[in-house]
Amino acid sequence: MSDTKSYGFDTLQIHAGSQPDPTTGARQTPIYQTTSYVFRDAEHAAALFNLQEVGYIYSRLTNPTVAVLQERVATLEGGVGAVGCSSGHAAQIMSLFPLMRPGDNIITSNRLYGGTVTQFSQTIKRFGWSATFVDIDDTAAIEAAADENTKAIFCESIANPGGHVADIAAVAAVANKLQVPLIVDNTSATPYLCRPIEQGAHLVVHSTTKYLTGNGTVTGGVVVDSGNFDWTAAGKHPSMTEPEPAYHGLKFHETFGPMAFTFHSIAIGLRDLGMTMAPQSAFQTLLGIETLSLRMQRHVENAQKIATWLENDPRVDFVTYAGLPSSPYAERVAKAYPRGAGALFTFAVKGGYEACVKLVDSVEIFSHVANLGDTRSLIIHSASTTHRQLTPEQQEAAGAAPNVVRLSIGIEDPEDLIRDLDQALSAATA
Ligand SMILES: *Cc1c(COP(=O)(O)O)cnc(C)c1O
Repeated sequence: MSDTKSYGFDTLQIHAGSQPDPTTGARQTPIYQTTSYVFRDAEHAAALFNLQEVGYIYSRLTNPTVAVLQERVATLEGGVGAVGCSSGHAAQIMSLFPLMRPGDNIITSNRLYGGTVTQFSQTIKRFGWSATFVDIDDTAAIEAAADENTKAIFCESIANPGGHVADIAAVAAVANKLQVPLIVDNTSATPYLCRPIEQGAHLVVHSTTKYLTGNGTVTGGVVVDSGNFDWTAAGKHPSMTEPEPAYHGLKFHETFGPMAFTFHSIAIGLRDLGMTMAPQSAFQTLLGIETLSLRMQRHVENAQKIATWLENDPRVDFVTYAGLPSSPYAERVAKAYPRGAGALFTFAVKGGYEACVKLVDSVEIFSHVANLGDTRSLIIHSASTTHRQLTPEQQEAAGAAPNVVRLSIGIEDPEDLIRDLDQALSAATA
């Protein structure tokens, strides 16, 4: 597509990045199930390996099906480039890899997907990195946590599990002051509900496993580069500005300008870490994205109805859905998330831990799974599963206290979902 700026979201989710296959005319994006690509001649091969020419070498780095997905997500997010990865967690590591050296740290929201809390509090220490967890609404706390080794700020737009919404513009202002990029995990919102780059984020990560694919078939991740972070201003990220020995002293920011991060992620990150998205997965996710806006509208509509019903039910203590008028986030949602607050939230069941466990065992339409963003409605008791590894204090801070269950509302008939929750709540609180 030539001028992607003039097209609307519904057009771009179907067309951005793709064109009829030049050799066969195939209209749907083919699955390029190949590991390697024949060079025109030795000179062509050398130019590709020197990064003097952009092209396909080997599918650990680039693949035409994955490239369509990368361009589609980058376009929907308003970025200049994107890198496909094997999972959302891989995308998170890939987003940090060009920014960090041993001894460096990030400041991150304490309201995160459970696996991300573990990745940031435990696993990244093996690389010599660390994370400081803060209440991301407290911008003074973010600033206070920063030191000269802070290299990025991380948060989720609509945060797991409670559906809390971040004030991205406010966090981006702190990031700009500290001269570090803000990375936003936009998995639960999708670019249909929230475009973090427009609100000041510098990088966006996705678990494409969730709403972008939409039906629970493949794992994948994407890192989107806004192209709007000035790597030279503070010189805090030497991988972007210093000579790269593996490419004859090339400086990424000098050679690739606003695409420096994207090229580094492919030429170094995918080359050496190998967290590559498979072309089959990219194809499946491309199919999902074609209907993203339609699904998200229905997800939000259903979530609104179910959260309202739960809030008025005497067996329920509270509901965290940010789309409710009673939510402390109502004003922020109206301003920054005008299409809705997503379809992910928690509610507290009278009867605590025991009632929650009985509830997840009693549902019939809802599936008890560790996933979100499926066409199907999903339920999980975070404290006994996804957030089980956390301390009670971490669970409470993350919104995963023992008395709450998390819902990911699907696109079924809302009346059926309410009937299912009604019978399960009766069983759980009998
Ligand atoms: C699922 C999820 C992840 C991790 O993604 P995977 O594809 O499972 O690796 C990260 N962040 C959020 C918000 C998620 O929902």
